Amino acid sequence: MTIMSTNTASTIERRIPSSHAGMPEDDRLKLVADVEAYCRELRPIEEICYLEHRFNEAIVELARKYDLMGMSVPREYGGRGADALTYVRALARINREGNGVRTFFSGQTSIGQYPIMRYGNESQKSHYLPRSCAGECILAFGLTEPDAGSNPLEGTCTFRREGDMFLLNGVKYLISNGSICDAVIVFAFPEDKTGSERRMSAFIVDTAGDTFESEALHAKPGMYTSDTAMFEMTDHPVPVTNLLGAEGNGFRIAMHTLISGRLSVAAGCLGAIEDCLAEVLIYARKRRQHGKEIGKHQLVQEHIAMIEMMRATSDAMIERAALAKDLSDRHPGDKELLAEADFRVAQAKFHAANAACEAADRAVQVFGGRGWSELYRPMRHLQDVRVCRIYEGTDEIMKLKIAARLLGKDYEAFS
Ligand SMILES: Cc1cc2nc3c(=O)[nH]c(=O)nc-3n(C[C@H](O)[C@H](O)[C@H](O)COP(=O)(O)OP(=O)(O)OC[C@H]3O[C@@H](n4cnc5c(N)ncnc54)[C@H](O)[C@@H]3O)c2cc1C
Repeated sequence: MTIMSTNTASTIERRIPSSHAGMPEDDRLKLVADVEAYCRELRPIEEICYLEHRFNEAIVELARKYDLMGMSVPREYGGRGADALTYVRALARINREGNGVRTFFSGQTSIGQYPIMRYGNESQKSHYLPRSCAGECILAFGLTEPDAGSNPLEGTCTFRREGDMFLLNGVKYLISNGSICDAVIVFAFPEDKTGSERRMSAFIVDTAGDTFESEALHAKPGMYTSDTAMFEMTDHPVPVTNLLGAEGNGFRIAMHTLISGRLSVAAGCLGAIEDCLAEVLIYARKRRQHGKEIGKHQLVQEHIAMIEMMRATSDAMIERAALAKDLSDRHPGDKELLAEADFRVAQAKFHAANAACEAADRAVQVFGGRGWSELYRPMRHLQDVRVCRIYEGTDEIMKLKIAARLLGKDYEAFS
């Protein structure tokens, strides 16, 4: 069986304006090289796993090997200290290998390590960050429940305190890395409170023990090589020291974390578009019909031009979103900077997710009958990126956020 693909050189390097780079140049170049080496070594394994519809253990093993388990975690905690722009470019490069591969890193870093970095106390940071950066602790983010998706406030997971432990109960659903994680950020409500006292809290939950049961979810049309799971907690004990942030502050922590997660989804979509473009350029020059290369037919050129426009517009929106998020992260108390980051990231996520779906669809079209096959990369991207219009906030929720920012807080349709 021949798997058709190409693995062209990384473009992360040339697309980071030096004026934006917030990490030492040597560190950045080393990270870029490690990401490239990771992607090249992973690709042949990933392609086989994808075709066999099975989890790819090499995604994690090679991430350990190339020291990519904590790309944006500060060096003092064992990470690579990547600035926001370098990190999103790295995610874009990784997503060329598949949306499932990138989703693992988002679960680990963008929505796993990020809330610990931002809201964890010193003891939580020094316990979880170095271990997770070393690859000894896989992380996940557990907000969604069977009956609470777009509105997490409808969640029913609960906690109660007994001595120096919280006991957590309930089910979390559709969680990336959910059955492979060693610790997960869980959001739950106090068991005995109602009304305005029923405020969500966040916990760092170790998954060991028979009070935490997880199950991988396999009925998905794509992203076969990564883990999507549900888990159930039954009086699952969590030390009180693992409360993340202040009690009752969980909704805020979840919303801030989702800004980080959405940016990672947008970056991933850019990578999928880049890969579709690379594949299409090769195929359109090679495949001949009607006596010439199909790339010489104007209607095929229209597909190529549109994929390039999807790439260029997504790239620009992601860059400005990353810079806005970076600025907000550096001024955590500034509400206006946070609102602007939220707005720009929502725009970038909405645009890039839809652009990736269109770009992948056009790439499949250029490949003709071969395109409609998992043997070729465009179809794999088409299957994988569809979920980007759903997870970390649906298209509809992104539109509501964008409109509310323009109209004003009184117009928030989801409040
Ligand atoms: C592969 C995968 C991985 C995931 N990973 C994670 C993870 O790691 N952690 C995690 O916590 N979650 C994760 N999720 C869950 C994901 O974030 C949710 O699926 C998503 O937020 C939507 O929630 P829902 O599925 O419950 O849909 P619902 O909220 O039930 O929405 C259904 C439809 O109604 C629309 N809708 C809902 N409310 C409104 C409104 N007010 N106005 C207009 N339209 C509305 C939605 O846009 C959507 O079209 C993952 C999901 C998938 C598929």
